[in-house]
Amino acid sequence: MIPVIALVGRPNVGKSTMFNRLTRSRDAIVANYAGLTRDRKYGEGKIGDQRFMLVDTGGISGEEEGIDTLMAQQSLQAIDEADVVLFMVSSRDGLTAADHIIAKQLRQRGKKTYLVANKVDGMDPDMAVMPFYELGLGEVFATTATHGRGVKSMMESVLAEL
Ligand code: GDP
Ligand code: MG
Repeated sequence: MIPVIALVGRPNVGKSTMFNRLTRSRDAIVANYAGLTRDRKYGEGKIGDQRFMLVDTGGISGEEEGIDTLMAQQSLQAIDEADVVLFMVSSRDGLTAADHIIAKQLRQRGKKTYLVANKVDGMDPDMAVMPFYELGLGEVFATTATHGRGVKSMMESVLAEL
């Protein structure tokens, strides 16, 4: 069985862009606005000799009312089915209240989670990751999904621990 990795986070942080880069797929629709990818999307990726299955999700806005509706059902399902979660946040936006809520949900579900600060382009990556350490999810990986910066080394770290 190849490992299953779910991409989770608020809409518009770059999940589908990351999915497309890692799977070289056009299957996931990259939206210029939030929340377009509604269905789960699966794709196979490969880093070195290691294959993995990636799951794109529509995202969790963190703006829904109530904890039960906070995560879209399909995102919850993707998390439960995955071996690990890549929790993506936006360096452009900084740490948001929704990120805090999602982090709490992930911790409650007890799923191995890697925190990925995307959109570090035009920023010092060491500075860009700093605010997200507050989430207490360990190392924060800096990426630019649109150009691929930091993506391979982040994935190598994730796959090395599987
Ligand atoms: P999703 O809603 O989380 O799936 O986000 P998308 O992948 O659809 O991306 C939302 C927007 O952010 C699109 O306009 C992307 O081109 C843009 N985007 C994604 N990754 C990056 C990045 O690393 N840097 C910048 N500047 N923009 C990005
Ligand atoms: Mg998307």
